[in-house]
Amino acid sequence: MQKIAIAIHGGAGTLLKGQMTSEKEKEYRATLQKALDVGYNLLKNGATSVEAVEKSVNVLEDSHLFNAGKGSVFNADETHEMDAAIMEGKNRNAGAVTLITGIKNPVSLARDVMEKSEHVFLAGEGALQFAKSRNYTLEEESYFYDDFRHKQWLEIKDSDSFQLDHASKKDSKFGTVGAVACDKHGNIAAATSTGGMTNKKYGRVGDSPMIGAGNYANNNTCAVSCTGSGEFFIRGVVAYDVSCLMEFKGLSLEDAANEVIHHRILEIGGDGGLIAVDAKGNVALPFNTEGMYRAIKDSAGREEVSIYKD
Ligand code: ASP
Repeated sequence: MQKIAIAIHGGAGTLLKGQMTSEKEKEYRATLQKALDVGYNLLKNGATSVEAVEKSVNVLEDSHLFNAGKGSVFNADETHEMDAAIMEGKNRNAGAVTLITGIKNPVSLARDVMEKSEHVFLAGEGALQFAKSRNYTLEEESYFYDDFRHKQWLEIKDSDSFQLDHASKKDSKFGTVGAVACDKHGNIAAATSTGGMTNKKYGRVGDSPMIGAGNYANNNTCAVSCTGSGEFFIRGVVAYDVSCLMEFKGLSLEDAANEVIHHRILEIGGDGGLIAVDAKGNVALPFNTEGMYRAIKDSAGREEVSIYKD
């Protein structure tokens, strides 16, 4: 019987046990659980993997805890520029948006680009024009304001450095979000949404919206959503690299995902992780950092919500 499965992530980074209060940890786990349940219940009721990954990511985008949508980090210009992508493994349809402001759920706009436009990738003003033509309402800047995020930015704003949200030295609690799923027809999909990296240059585009770098799906191999130092994930073409190792080298999902995260991306200095699923409903969640907010649920009875290394 076809297994259904969903996995989600909320970013990888310096996540060490005891760093956050138990209340905070509960909040993270509850939000991850909610996002997982929303996606899994959709799959259980026959929804497509595309629908499941979009709606799971929407839950994480609506939470201030994660670096996407509402919780997006500040860029060097003290504003938010968000990126998102979605891809369907059945036909390799894809949609992506980058450098957008004011959109509550960037991944839904990416899905509209995929399904309601002739294009794959829309940027900045053009993406916003498209959003307006589809009657999206734009949120005020204050919707995305978060005190903690602002402090994070103030700490490094006068430097040239930019950082992974969840790799901040003092507090390291947030991250890009993503979901991958396999539905009852064995169709797989991946979605990723992010505010990028704190203090990133105005106009900087990360791996998350780039098809093949931070997000990819192909029914013949895998669906992948990445999190980590985007510049390295772009150079490593990470999501597609996992797919290539399966397609051309015959590696299993688990082996391909581990090879990329524990060897190939490390070789060029990249840190982070990914979640991946194949058309049989197998799931892999490797990361080379101290932790990764992650959760998985499948119809074979596996269900886990985790943050740290085991
Ligand atoms: N990969 C994202 C970026 O570089 C950051 C993250 O995963 O938190 O924009």
